Amino acid sequence: FTKDSYEVQRGPYRSLNEGHLNYFRDLLGETNLIQDLSDLEKYNVDFYKHLRGKSNLVLRPRTTTEVSKILSFCNANLLAVCTQGGHTGVCGGATPIFDEIILSTELMNKIVHLDEISGVLTCGAGCVLQNLNDYLSEFDLMMPIDLGAKGSCHIGGNVATNAGGIRLIRYGNLHGNVLGLEVVKANGEVLDCLNTLKKDNTGFHLKNTFIGSEGCLGFITKVAIQCAPKPKSIQLAFLGAQNFDKILMAFRKAKHDLGEIVSAIEVMDHKTMEMVEQHTPMSSPIGHYPFYLIIETSGSDEVHDQEKLGRYFEGCMAKHFILNGVTVSSPSQREKLWHIREKIAESFYKDGYVLMYDVTLPLEHYYDIVAEMENYLGNRSHRVFGFGHLGDGNLHLQISLKEFSQEMINYIEPYLYKRVKELKGSISAEHGIGFLKKQYLPMVQSNVNVALMRDMKKLLDPNCILNPYKVI
Ligand code: FAD
Repeated sequence: FTKDSYEVQRGPYRSLNEGHLNYFRDLLGETNLIQDLSDLEKYNVDFYKHLRGKSNLVLRPRTTTEVSKILSFCNANLLAVCTQGGHTGVCGGATPIFDEIILSTELMNKIVHLDEISGVLTCGAGCVLQNLNDYLSEFDLMMPIDLGAKGSCHIGGNVATNAGGIRLIRYGNLHGNVLGLEVVKANGEVLDCLNTLKKDNTGFHLKNTFIGSEGCLGFITKVAIQCAPKPKSIQLAFLGAQNFDKILMAFRKAKHDLGEIVSAIEVMDHKTMEMVEQHTPMSSPIGHYPFYLIIETSGSDEVHDQEKLGRYFEGCMAKHFILNGVTVSSPSQREKLWHIREKIAESFYKDGYVLMYDVTLPLEHYYDIVAEMENYLGNRSHRVFGFGHLGDGNLHLQISLKEFSQEMINYIEPYLYKRVKELKGSISAEHGIGFLKKQYLPMVQSNVNVALMRDMKKLLDPNCILNPYKVI
C-alpha cells in the first residue's frame, strides 16, 4: 500500500554524519535516539500506510531546553527536521519524506499544572489525548476535544493540526480553547506564550500563528488549554432516515429542541454501515436505512435531558424525519453505539486502498458530492461513501479502490477539489494540508494569501528546516 517515491526533489540539506550523532547522543543519552531500522518503521510510515519516509534517526527530547538545543544545532548545520506527535495525522504532515530527522514529542508527556477552579490545564505537548481525559476525570473535568485517534494522538499534534473531532459543535475549535503555548522556533529560541488567561489582548496573538501550522513554523512544547466540566448526564440517540433531506430536517430540529445540551451530531450513509458490518463484528442496532444520525447530548440533569431527547425523538418520528431509532443513556450502551462510528476508520484498512477526503461543504450540498463522485467514477472505484461531523458541515468522503493507483488519484483530486471550491466549501476541514494536499493549496487560497504564508515561513524558519515539503 505504501507510497515511497514522490515527485519532489530532496532539498539542499546536509546528511547526518557521526559528528551530528555524537552531539545528539551527548545531549539526550543513547536511549533517546532511535536508529534501529525495525524500530524506525512506525515513525517512517503513517497511520494509514499512505506514505513511507526514509529517516535514519528519531530524537526524543524530554524538555524544552533539549528541543531548543536540537533545533539550534539543526538550523546551524542545515539538517532538516520532521516534527512528529502521535503520528495519527492523515495528510502526511508528520511523516518524513526523505531523510529528515524525526523530532518526536513522545517523552514530553508531563502534566505541568491544573487549576481546578478555572479548569485550565497546562501540559507537555506529548501528552496523549486519552491520558489527559483520564487524568481530568478525577477532577470532574474533560478535554474540550474528542476524536477517534484519542488513544494515540498528542495534544501538541492536535494543536498543530487545529484538530476538530466530534465535540467541536459544543466546545468550539482550538483557537478558542487553547489559551497559551510554549513554542521553540527553528533557530532554537523559546517563545513563551504560555498564557492561562481567558482574556488577554496585549499585542498580536502570537500563539494563534501556531495553531494549525502543521509543524512548519515552530515546535510546540507546552499547551495551556481550557477544559470543560465533565457532564453529569450523557444521552445518545442512534437514528435511521430515508434520505439526506430528512437528515437535515432532523438536524435542524435537534439544534432547536436540544439547544444547549447537544454535544455531537454525526452522520453516516448506508455504504459506510455496510463496510463496518462487512469488516467488523458490529452491526446497525436499528436495522438498515439509507442514512444514520448519531446525536449526543451532555448536560447536568439526567431526568431533564432524557425527557428532552425523548420528546425530540417522538417529534422526529411523528414528522417522519426519522423512520426508526434508539436512545440510550448507560455508559456501556453509549460506548457500544459510539464504537460503530469509531470502527469506521479501522474498517478502511480491509476495504482496499482508501482515499480519504476531509471537506467542509454548505449543508445544502453536503451529501451531493458523494453521489456526484460515485457517478464520476462509475465502476472504477470499489466503494464511494460518506460520513462525518454534520454539525460542523464536515464530510469525510471516502473512495476505496482495489489497489493503489496514482492514475486514479490524478483523476479524482483535481475534479473533486474544483467542485468543492465551486460549492464554496473547504478542501481541508480539520486534517490540514500536510504533504498530500500541498499542490492544491494555491488552487483554494489566493496568491496574496499564499505569499503571506510564505513570508511567515521565511521569517520564522529562514533555512526551511522545519517540515520541508509540507503545506507550502
Ligand atoms: P501527528 O500526526 O504526529 O502530526 C500532525 C501534524 O502536526 C504534522 O504536520 C506534524 O508535523 C505536526 N506536529 C505534531 N506535533 C507537533 C508539535 N509538538 N509541534 C509542532 N508541530 C507538530 N482529526 C480531526 O481533526 N478530527 C477527527 O475526528 C479525527 N479523527 C481521526 C480518527 C482516526 C482513527 C485517525 C487515525 C485520525 C483522526 N484524525 C482526526 C486525524 C489526527 O488524529 C489529528 O490530525 C490529530 O490532531 C493528529 O495528532 P498527532 O499527535 O497524531 O499528530
